[in-house]
Amino acid sequence: MKFHNKIGVLAYHGDVIEHISAAHKAVQNLSLSVQIQEVRTKKDLDIDGLIIPGGESTVLHKLSQREGIFEVMKQIPFIFGTCAGAIMLAKKIYHKTPGQKTLRLLDIEVDRNAYGRQTDSFEKKIHTALGDIQAVFIRAPRIITIGKNVKVLARDGDDIIACEEKSDENVYIAACFHPELTTTVFHEYFFRRIYQR
Ligand code: GLN
Repeated sequence: MKFHNKIGVLAYHGDVIEHISAAHKAVQNLSLSVQIQEVRTKKDLDIDGLIIPGGESTVLHKLSQREGIFEVMKQIPFIFGTCAGAIMLAKKIYHKTPGQKTLRLLDIEVDRNAYGRQTDSFEKKIHTALGDIQAVFIRAPRIITIGKNVKVLARDGDDIIACEEKSDENVYIAACFHPELTTTVFHEYFFRRIYQR
């Protein structure tokens, strides 16, 4: 694969700035020379991988459809989705709005808003395969099932809250919480998967 040395962040709404900032720090920590690029339209897709931030999966779906990149995003080999981004990656979702579609790239089933309303959002320390971190859950989705090729990266009790599906060509990583708010370890992990294979 020919690298562009650019990582995109889907930049319609949600915690875009936080992801860009975490991505910059991760690039620095790994001493990579990679640019971080905001993605809104087709012309922004000269990227090696994409980060899909949290926000509203319904909005992400609608705007990416409107800009004509929803189908094109399915061709991106490396995607890291947090919260609404994890919903976007899922093969199947529950409690979707009418007409809501996902990219169906990662073999997980996800229940939207399973932890309750915005006011039920919470923060807690969790163990992950990448070390202990503080995790922020904001109207988070719950991963209900994972396919046999999906590896768990973090659990909270019985709940799988971060996971990855990897093949020779693709890596898709999903987190139900917001790592970009508290840590860069997930961004570093994602970048290592792309540039240090
Ligand atoms: N509830 C949102 C959705 O369904 C996700 C929330 C978030 O990304 N923090 O898309």
